[in-house]
Amino acid sequence: MPRRLPEVAVVTGASSGIGAATARTLADEGFAVVLGARRSERLETLASDIVRAGGNATFLATDVTIPGEVTALADLAVATYGRIDVLVANAGVMPLSPLRALRVAEWERMVDVNVKGLLNSIAAVLPQMEAQGGGHIVTLGSVGSHLVAPAAAVYCGTKFAAWAITEGLRQESAGRIRATVISPGAVATELPDGVADPDVAAATRAFYADAIDADAVARAILYAVNQPAEVAVNEIILRPTAQAF
Ligand code: NDP
Repeated sequence: MPRRLPEVAVVTGASSGIGAATARTLADEGFAVVLGARRSERLETLASDIVRAGGNATFLATDVTIPGEVTALADLAVATYGRIDVLVANAGVMPLSPLRALRVAEWERMVDVNVKGLLNSIAAVLPQMEAQGGGHIVTLGSVGSHLVAPAAAVYCGTKFAAWAITEGLRQESAGRIRATVISPGAVATELPDGVADPDVAAATRAFYADAIDADAVARAILYAVNQPAEVAVNEIILRPTAQAF
């Protein structure tokens, strides 16, 4: 059922997994969606599917580690649809390894995408949301925003940071901009494919045996953004029922 006015949602990391599922779910709900990720051919396919189904979607090749590219994505949203109601700052990577393996380039990539990319995304939409008098920023934390496990020190560090940044945003923006951190356990996406350390890859595959579908996370995001304006859902933690930690 289309909404009264199309609300506008920018989704980063929309080329696969949770971002793609969220884009489809929000589009089905009547949001105009603006899709960003590096693999633009996937974004083009997703946007075409949404438009063919009667929705509104556009896309731009976006690397969230490059501030100007995320600003261009936000500018596209405003130029095409006039405003930005929701940002789903979802882009992330998870190349797990123990610190002693010294996979320093992977540590840097996690910080660049999961922390600096998140900040670049917030910076790209915040002035527009402040100017239009409101908005909603949804970030992707993790159960790793609340606990640390071996081989996940840096990844969990980035997700603790995502949690802290979202909480700070919530406090600073109270009354104007809603902030929600979504903290999932294992979700069946391409994320664990990024584990290159051979010792950790097998353990990660085992951990993901009970992984839930990305649509479960998309439904949680939809729940948060669909609340009436006076209600702010600040965090949702969701795990596979079978997942203990
Ligand atoms: P996927 O690997 O399926 O998706 C990750 C997305 O991030 C892709 O669309 C990828 O697109 C994008 N991305 C990666 N690097 C960049 C970049 N530099 N610039 C722009 N986009 C980028 O994983 P998920 O869907 O699982 O991950 C989405 C989020 O959910 C992440 O933040 C992750 O940490 C979080 N999360 C996932 C969990 C899980 O178990 N799956 C659990 C808890 C949290 P492209 O490569 O085309 O740029």
